[in-house]
Amino acid sequence: MTQLQERDEAWRELVLTARRTVTDGLVVGTSGNVSVRVGGSDGDTVLVTPTGVPYEELGPDDLVAVGLDGERRAGTLKPTSELPMHLAVYRHTEARAVVHTHAVHATAVSTLVPELPPVHYMTAALGGPVRVAPYATYGTQELAENMLLALADRTGCLLQNHGALTYGDTLSAAYDRTAQLEWMCHLWLTAHSVPGLTPSLLTGEQLREVGERLGGYGQRGAR
Ligand SMILES: [Zn+2]
Repeated sequence: MTQLQERDEAWRELVLTARRTVTDGLVVGTSGNVSVRVGGSDGDTVLVTPTGVPYEELGPDDLVAVGLDGERRAGTLKPTSELPMHLAVYRHTEARAVVHTHAVHATAVSTLVPELPPVHYMTAALGGPVRVAPYATYGTQELAENMLLALADRTGCLLQNHGALTYGDTLSAAYDRTAQLEWMCHLWLTAHSVPGLTPSLLTGEQLREVGERLGGYGQRGAR
């Protein structure tokens, strides 16, 4: 496959992933964004959803490519306003794909606690208890910095009063983590809402054991 074919194929997959966030109810309208890194292991080109275009309208000609510095490489549409978060993830982790949504349960949890309590063992698939990055205005460098701190040794985090972000080696891995995280947030909210009862939580040791069993799945840089 030539580099251009690889890029077009990655864009096609990106659009399908973005549409899936809508059909699976993780995103309303265009209130989320997806990106993927292309060009081999040292690739420094990022394809990203444009701002303000409904995903069902995105076609092959709407491709938006930027460098890790945010400079435009291809396309005419404006990249998502949340580009600084995506680029920060690529500059500081092994990520090949990033999914960001305003999913309702994840966003609800982000307003309640500084860390999602580990109510389920799949917490280990994200590298450990998922932190909430302190609030900052969307699209700012400050938010990107808060997010990076929350992402340390994790493949996902919540963004206070905003949403969630996960990454992976592929678009489907990043997407699956977003779906798992949303499900765990829903689970904790459900268990936590029973009057008079408090959900039991897993210990660090129990999570480490699951992490080993998952073979490093969810650990930063793991396949
Ligand atoms: Zn957002």
